[in-house]
Amino acid sequence: MTVVAARSIPLEILALPAQRYGCHGCGDCCRDFTVQLREADLAKLRAQRWEERLGVPVTTEFRGRRFLAQRVDGACVFLGEGGRCRIHAEFGLEEKPLACQMFPFVLAPDARRARAGVSFACASVLANKGPALASHAADVRRMAAMVDELAPARTMLDDATEASSEEPDLVAEALDRWLRDASRPLAERLDGLAWLAQQLSGARFAKVRGPRLRELMDTLVDALPDELPLHPIEPASRAQRATLRQAAFFRLEDPKIGDLRRQGRVRAVLGQYLRSRRFSRGRGAVPAMGAGWGGAVAFAAVDAVGPVDGSPDAAAIDELLTRWLRATVLGGRAWGSGFYGWSVTAGLQALALNAACVRWLARLHAAGAGRRAPSIDDVRAALSRVDRASGRAPWIGSRAERMRLSYLRIDDGLRCILRA
Ligand code: SF4
Repeated sequence: MTVVAARSIPLEILALPAQRYGCHGCGDCCRDFTVQLREADLAKLRAQRWEERLGVPVTTEFRGRRFLAQRVDGACVFLGEGGRCRIHAEFGLEEKPLACQMFPFVLAPDARRARAGVSFACASVLANKGPALASHAADVRRMAAMVDELAPARTMLDDATEASSEEPDLVAEALDRWLRDASRPLAERLDGLAWLAQQLSGARFAKVRGPRLRELMDTLVDALPDELPLHPIEPASRAQRATLRQAAFFRLEDPKIGDLRRQGRVRAVLGQYLRSRRFSRGRGAVPAMGAGWGGAVAFAAVDAVGPVDGSPDAAAIDELLTRWLRATVLGGRAWGSGFYGWSVTAGLQALALNAACVRWLARLHAAGAGRRAPSIDDVRAALSRVDRASGRAPWIGSRAERMRLSYLRIDDGLRCILRA
């Protein structure tokens, strides 16, 4: 475990030796993300005198916030040849906006420290390229010291019970023991995750605290191998599959500022509603959601693609999804400040839903490429989209998402869609 002091709260870099990272300059994040700016970022950009030198605005205001300007293709205005950032090339890493420096690290404070997890929207994180995460400790500490709002944050166990500083770790450790058990197939571990999420969603933790919570988690995890076969999964119902497709839609949807401006608010909202409805119905062509995502493929073709478990790349997919799930849980991104302030129990359900969305989106991506089973590249593309939205897109942390999860608690819904 790497612990370094960040401002007034200790900082802990994700302690997962299986995960590595180093920037390989692909520039994907600079084409994909819309970067919001802080006052300090704006001051740096002014001092660098870009607007005078380039003759174009390098920032833009949208709905009361300021962002880096984007080109017509949606890429950052500073993205240069070969994926190089012009600010970085001319002034160095520390002169870039803080969000650009920080990516793919994501800070998630809890009661006693801030965790630095990683985003799987980053191609190097996905591909596990680069040095050990601990080698970035000094850089992450420097960046964390610039985050003014970094302060201890409370985590809830359920919606009514505030966790002690140790309790979320007890849950994470027990869950991680199950997720990393390589003797069990990925499909079984995902089923166990959904089963645990469903069991805990009905629990009230007011009287199950500290050592009793540890005992409960250990008992539940130890019971999984015997318990799961006693509760066979029914095929997902039409309504459950519709809910899954709608959840997947909201992980793909993320229009650029330029598109929203061109369309205007009313057309943008109406367009989103119509696309969402087509995903729910699941008939005809999948609406175009960006390169590789629908537009020239039918929902029926997605249904015809086999599950990720039957992929020729099953071993690589198992390694990737296991690493992602573990990094999410141990890196503080499954609940609390790392996930919209949601409780541990709600965050666990959301993690299971995210895993189901990765599996469905991988099949959509495979269908678009004419494959009969998802490849590792399809799963990487799907995971990148899902993790990009997770904890960041406001609509994933919304009431509508909580309602989807409430519905999926009925009739083993989470387990059914994870197997669908
Ligand atoms: S400022 Fe540089 S690092 Fe940040 S998005 Fe633009 S090109 Fe990428």
